[in-house]
Amino acid sequence: MKAMTYDGPGRRIWKDVPDATVESPEDALVRVDAVTICGSDLHILKGDVPEVTRGTILGHEAVGTVMEIGTSVSGVKVGDRVLVSCVGGCGRCRFCRANQDGQCLRGGGWALGHLINGTQAELVRVPFADRGLHKLPETIPDEQALLLADILPTAYEVGVLNGRVAPGSSVVIVGAGPVGLAAVITARLLTPSRIVVVDPASSRREAAVHFGADLAVPGPDEVRAELEAYTEGLGFDTVIEAVGIPATFELCTSLVRPGGTVANVGVHGSPVTLHLEDLWIKDVTITTGLVDTYSTPTLLRLMGEGRVNTEGFVTHRFGLEEMQDGYDVFERASDTGALKVALFRD
Ligand code: NAD
Ligand code: ZN
Repeated sequence: MKAMTYDGPGRRIWKDVPDATVESPEDALVRVDAVTICGSDLHILKGDVPEVTRGTILGHEAVGTVMEIGTSVSGVKVGDRVLVSCVGGCGRCRFCRANQDGQCLRGGGWALGHLINGTQAELVRVPFADRGLHKLPETIPDEQALLLADILPTAYEVGVLNGRVAPGSSVVIVGAGPVGLAAVITARLLTPSRIVVVDPASSRREAAVHFGADLAVPGPDEVRAELEAYTEGLGFDTVIEAVGIPATFELCTSLVRPGGTVANVGVHGSPVTLHLEDLWIKDVTITTGLVDTYSTPTLLRLMGEGRVNTEGFVTHRFGLEEMQDGYDVFERASDTGALKVALFRD
């Protein structure tokens, strides 16, 4: 089969590799029908995730068709059209039993450092298939379903739910990449009174308004002006960090009201400063986390009912064989305007 492999920092190769197979009774073998490229794939390509070794297949988001199942798989059958989730734990360890599949002690899924071969291939082996695969209804097109693999549950669980967005609350989302925009879409489900997005890129601000933000501003000065105007200087109920750099984390902690929540979603590659000299008196809750995908069945149902709508999210489409071109476009997102790049089997 053909697959996109990591070949050391800065090098990716689309090449022939041995076919993926069922290796354990809990595995399923899935033919990849549609797949996307995620910002985390770019982190791995840069060499930021040293656990990933040369030759590993990239990718952790896909829609496909079940070709074969292990002897103990009962949740899906051959021929089913499925979502391949970025996380799917063993279901038995102490973390999975608490719905923390992202922390699975048996290493379920791809999110914890891509230690197993990924989805950017013609075939993918899915471990713990009963938890990592979700049957898709016909009503959800591949292009929308792809966003349920990682982006939507990440934004909803780690941003919106950890951030305690509630009816009538005021919400700031810093960063309007795929994750920040998915936070806009899923925050709306909880009927906050105002969603303000901060992003220096005008195309991202436009997208934020398209997906339901009430206001999108370029930087700290404008969002502080909004804090004065909308919250009478008190601060916002929920502030979601969806960038992953020290400056934006510090901005988030400066925007939250006493008793409010800062939900960090961004992956940080360097230390950040926690201003406890300001925060200690404010009763602030700060949350962090990796997506667990416990919300995927709920989001799938809401998408099927048209209440989670991601039309317009995929900006560029390619054939699976054009994987290198897809990466070229995604890597130059600031020039190409790429939000999400999707690749489809012919
Ligand atoms: P992205 O890089 O595509 O988007 C980041 C956005 O932040 C861009 O639109 C950019 O213009 C904006 N930005 C840059 N500097 C900014 C600033 N100073 N102020 C405001 N906005 C700024 O990233 P993404 O794919 O949307 O992911 C966002 C973060 O979430 C990343 O750090 C990613 O690694 C992380 N992530 C976390 C999890 C998890 O489980 N916790 C899962 C997936 C992704
Ligand atoms: Zn587990």
